[in-house]
Amino acid sequence: MLEDMDFIKSCDVPGPTKEAIRAIILYKSEVSSTDKVIDCGCGTGGITCEFSQRAQEVISIDTNPEAIDITQKNLKKFGLGDNITLINDNGANALKDIDNIDIAIIGGSGRELENILDIIDTKLNSNGRIIITAILVDTKIEAINKLKQLNYNPKIMEVNISNGRVLDRGVMMISENPIAIITAKKR
Ligand code: SAH
Repeated sequence: MLEDMDFIKSCDVPGPTKEAIRAIILYKSEVSSTDKVIDCGCGTGGITCEFSQRAQEVISIDTNPEAIDITQKNLKKFGLGDNITLINDNGANALKDIDNIDIAIIGGSGRELENILDIIDTKLNSNGRIIITAILVDTKIEAINKLKQLNYNPKIMEVNISNGRVLDRGVMMISENPIAIITAKKR
């Protein structure tokens, strides 16, 4: 696993998704070296960089040009990028030209989550997996309802990680943002 502190960050781009969350996403995705992965809303490239090391191909999309720039810089920093395509566009638009997806990760969707899920559903391979990270309560509900409507059997896990800061007089636990990881498999 890459370390959070090694990522290049920007105040205009959220991320990286914290290491422990990336680890759960990797495990839930059941990624293998033949998988084609979509990272919709790649931000700083936290997820993109991890999947780049484990999947055959990653296509990373973000509406914010600065996110694409930072993702590119992080890939370079970690010596990755040969199997990555970066697209500066809205996920809903970019996905129209992409087929045969094994793993679709949605880390950002603006107000287009339902639309993006509709498109992903038509592009996902028969054993495909969808993973959505959500911070807003509203996004969690929207994701679950939409996946149900599309005939998936969604699962939701709310994760609260606290990391210890070792001080002279003891260890202080510092909590990171609670985040939900919503997963669904094609059936
Ligand atoms: N997982 C990332 C952080 C994601 S932050 C990391 O580890 O760094 C969410 C990102 O989603 C933001 O960069 C935002 O610009 C992007 N985003 C929001 N709506 C989007 C959409 N409709 N299509 C593509 N990207 C989108």
